[in-house]
Amino acid sequence: MGYWNEDIECMSREDMTALQNERLRAQVKHVYENVPYYRDLMDKKGLKPEDIQTIDDLKKLPFLSKSDLRDTYPYGMLACPLSECVRIHSTSGTTGKRVVAFYTQNDIDMWEDCCARAITAAGGTKEDVLQVCYGYGLFTGGSGLHGGSHKVGCLTLPMSSGNTKRQIQFMMDLQSTILCCTPSYAAYLSETLYEMGYTTNDIKLKAGIFGAEPWTEEMRHSIERSLGIKAYDIYGLTESSGPGVAFECSEQNGMHINEDNFIPEIIDPDTGEVLPDGEEGELVFTSITKEAFPLIRYRTRDLCVLTKGTCSCGRTLIKMCKPKGRSDDMMIIRGVNVFPSQIETVLIEKGYTPNYQIIVDRVNNVDTLDINCEVPEGLNDYEIPAKEKALAGSIKHMLGITPKIHLVPAKTIARSEGKAVRVIDKRKLID
Ligand code: ADP
Ligand code: ZN
Repeated sequence: MGYWNEDIECMSREDMTALQNERLRAQVKHVYENVPYYRDLMDKKGLKPEDIQTIDDLKKLPFLSKSDLRDTYPYGMLACPLSECVRIHSTSGTTGKRVVAFYTQNDIDMWEDCCARAITAAGGTKEDVLQVCYGYGLFTGGSGLHGGSHKVGCLTLPMSSGNTKRQIQFMMDLQSTILCCTPSYAAYLSETLYEMGYTTNDIKLKAGIFGAEPWTEEMRHSIERSLGIKAYDIYGLTESSGPGVAFECSEQNGMHINEDNFIPEIIDPDTGEVLPDGEEGELVFTSITKEAFPLIRYRTRDLCVLTKGTCSCGRTLIKMCKPKGRSDDMMIIRGVNVFPSQIETVLIEKGYTPNYQIIVDRVNNVDTLDINCEVPEGLNDYEIPAKEKALAGSIKHMLGITPKIHLVPAKTIARSEGKAVRVIDKRKLID
């Protein structure tokens, strides 16, 4: 499969570092001169733009986090006149108050270019019909992939999310070949396909580009099997632009970061210290080409590992592993660190559907973990208790703590059309 921008995607490390150094110097100056909030943070550290000459100097710079964006809402991080901006997007608010991000036309072009790289890496060309069922609107998913699809020259189907039966009908009638949506919505689409009496023989899909939420390898295999496609991961966040900050290639083993635009670092989330490549920590991005909303050392809260080196696809761009969730997705249950993705792995491995709900509570000062998932097809009522017990055992094996499993009737757990809400932590409601 080809490249969208071979010069960049396969650039030597020396050339990439030189490009990053040059762009970083200009960006720090741009921000210092135009964003008083960040200038103050730099002044407090006694830093001037000239102190930042290469990417090795990055670690001197102050971090930004979601709370800075909330404190400066809406215009405090804007680095150019509003009259130069052409678009606003907003986070989906998964973890609290939304933040807004601004884009100049160049920012939009850069972002769509990143999405074009992702589509090309998934095998997309101008011969493809690309169905976008990420939400359109303030959420970045829809417009990002839509713009990338136009750049590649695919025939673009701007479906947005929802109206699932119509999605399937259009997928068949218009012979979509590439599907873009959240992985949880892809699972729902495949379920609906079969419910409507069709199979993969009735559709022409060959690939899917799925992201915006954490998903496991098991979920990938399950979607690939049920839709008869290759499923590629795509990562991004509104604060950096949107989807396309990183994208998966034919190797399907980690996502290449578009380093000509975003410099990644991994830090220890507790101390802020930069960790060596290969260690797990919090992913931090510095946008080196954005004009309107250029965040320096932005803490994503996503936990991840970076790997350097040339990939079998020929790209030299650093790879990030699938983020296993945000640091704030991690639940501490009876002293044990638990990620929803660990539970998802076991559920799918054991043949359950990827529809589940995790409920955490505290009863008499003891944490409780309840998992609702759907009864597998063909199971008789009298078999349920044994099945629940077996599943609880498998999850205990993975986590070290025993959950209470509730097998509920099929199709009773709400399906997600966008980002799935997997966890209800009732302890947080009390605290
Ligand atoms: P919100 O923070 O409100 O969800 P965004 O829509 O900007 O707003 O979401 C960005 C976040 O979504 C990322 O920081 C990350 O936690 C998650 N995310 C995006 N893509 C992926 C992916 N491929 N795998 C795991 N998580 C992802
Ligand atoms: Zn690759």
